[in-house]
Amino acid sequence: MKRNHLQSLEPKLGGMPEAEGLNFFLDDLNLNLLMRFYVSEDEYEKVLPLLSKMGEVAGTELDELSREADQNPPELISYNRQGERVDIIRYHPSYHRLEEIGYGEFGLVVMSHRPGVMGWPTPFSRVLKYAFWYLFAQSEFGLCCPMSMTDSAARVIEQYASPEIKNKYIPRMVSTDTSELWTGAQFMTEKQGGSDVGTNLVTAKKAGDHWELWGDKWFCSNVSADVALVLARPEGASAGTKGLAMFLVPKKLENGERNRYRINRLKDKLGTRDMASGEVTFEGAVGYVIGNIDSGFKQMMSMVNSSRLSNAVRSAAMMRRSFTEALVTVRGRKAFGQALIDLPLMRESLFELLLITEAASSAIFYTAHVFDQAEGNHEESKKLLRILTPLLKGTVCKQARYVTAEAMEIRGGNGYIEEWVNPKLVRDAHVGSIWEGTTNIVALDVLRAIHKDDGGRAFISDLEKRLSGLKNAHVQRAAELCRGKMEKFKEQVEQIVQGRSLEQEISAKRFMVRMYHLFTASLLLQEAEFQLSSNGGYRKLYLFIHYFQRYLHLEDDTGIFDKNVNEWLDAIIDWESIPENIIDPLLTVMEKNVKVSSKAPTK
Ligand SMILES: Cc1cc2nc3c(=O)[nH]c(=O)nc-3n(C[C@H](O)[C@H](O)[C@H](O)COP(=O)(O)OP(=O)(O)OC[C@H]3O[C@@H](n4cnc5c(N)ncnc54)[C@H](O)[C@@H]3O)c2cc1C
Repeated sequence: MKRNHLQSLEPKLGGMPEAEGLNFFLDDLNLNLLMRFYVSEDEYEKVLPLLSKMGEVAGTELDELSREADQNPPELISYNRQGERVDIIRYHPSYHRLEEIGYGEFGLVVMSHRPGVMGWPTPFSRVLKYAFWYLFAQSEFGLCCPMSMTDSAARVIEQYASPEIKNKYIPRMVSTDTSELWTGAQFMTEKQGGSDVGTNLVTAKKAGDHWELWGDKWFCSNVSADVALVLARPEGASAGTKGLAMFLVPKKLENGERNRYRINRLKDKLGTRDMASGEVTFEGAVGYVIGNIDSGFKQMMSMVNSSRLSNAVRSAAMMRRSFTEALVTVRGRKAFGQALIDLPLMRESLFELLLITEAASSAIFYTAHVFDQAEGNHEESKKLLRILTPLLKGTVCKQARYVTAEAMEIRGGNGYIEEWVNPKLVRDAHVGSIWEGTTNIVALDVLRAIHKDDGGRAFISDLEKRLSGLKNAHVQRAAELCRGKMEKFKEQVEQIVQGRSLEQEISAKRFMVRMYHLFTASLLLQEAEFQLSSNGGYRKLYLFIHYFQRYLHLEDDTGIFDKNVNEWLDAIIDWESIPENIIDPLLTVMEKNVKVSSKAPTK
């Protein structure tokens, strides 16, 4: 195999390497394997140059622009020279160039809406779409929020709006010409609470063919959007979420004047600093009802769900970037006379990041695949997508905080300095767990998906199908380990189906994390089987064994596993062949441990 930039670094005392000028696609053999797994051979060949282009741009121009935009946040211009209220957001030119790349050159928002983006003959599948996003978000996270909202707002309008609204707004929202483009936003959260949306106070009064909105919204990302989807309570509607309607609020009125809402100020945020989030007051703003007047919340949740998945993709992307930065650091820097990567404890630090990062990528691309099937009206896939979406939002976004922070520490003091990419990654990674529903809220949503929407059963049946489809003898042995961990889980799911108890609510987050590990472990096995069937060796199976040992069977003696990481880390990183005779003893030890501890009394 050709040595790439990540392999050929020379460790130096005082070396301060960074992942400059990489091609994030060509240097990521894991993403490559996932594409080969999920995409037909023909499609894979055709998409390679496009993904390589995205990988190259992400590793070079995008990275520079993102750094510049992050250091030059947008400004709110409330008044013009004549003292008239204008509420314009002034962005740094680097942000506009990011928009051209994201919305325009790669058509990231519209690629699954319509054919023709980058010459692709059909709309891109979710799997391919998220591969592009995965590469883009390794450098630029802030703009992904407006892009994702534009994407999901267009989808909601397409699904629920009247033909007049669709004809007027959709063509502009799916344009790749940034001078024509109308971007989207969702204004839902108010001062009194974002989780408890049913307390929303913004009201809507009927005024002829439209409505007028009154009141305050407290968090409005992409506040300069041309089209905002807003939740408001029509006069006389009931309390709670049932009384909320969804309104399309354009920035400009038919006569070209600004719609009647004020942007009060911009948020001074920890992360996503290049993207403008603001506070808004509606003063009789013109709005048009979208869909059913009493289904506003339900419709908004379909927008939120699509953004939740996109959030998980972006979080996984930030993990990958963090891992790359960590790898470059440990291969290019020395301490105590050795490359950092040769220090045993650092080997462990890096391996941990690799495991979490690869498992997250398995989770997002499988879920994207389920999304594709659900779009084809496959009922079982819809149920599965219903539960996988909060599952990934709750776990992957949280892990991104850990992985970005660990990578920052691996870079040492420089990692804490704003000239390096790590602080931006850490800052950006933190918001994924808060917006679109905090971790607690999505953990409770996982319970709801099991209790109300049959998601638990769909999840178990999917897992069992995956495990029973495995053919390789070693992989089958590993699958047995997974099955052993499923019994208790199945019981818990059944209890949740029967009714939600206080005890279940208290442990919802722990339950969600365990569920995620079972899910990703089974995906690693599926990938292991694929890798073996294409003569790719035992790398993925090796990762499964270590993943299982760390996250699903925590109480084992780690001796043999630690020794093993120390010995094989470089081969794992560089995708060199892992021999069969390494796998066998690990499986044997694991089988013994699982048996022993399953007999042990529960604490
Ligand atoms: C940078 C940024 C941009 C944003 N952009 C937008 C936007 O564009 N549009 C929009 O509508 N909103 C936006 N938000 C708002 C975001 O969605 C909310 O902040 C979030 O949903 C939480 O709401 P809250 O801040 O009111 O916290 P609260 O709802 O008050 O929650 C406070 C805490 O209580 C916990 N909690 C609440 N209920 C429960 C429960 N039942 N059980 C256990 N714990 C619970 C929460 O997990 C949280 O930790 C943005 C937020 C940020 C930070």
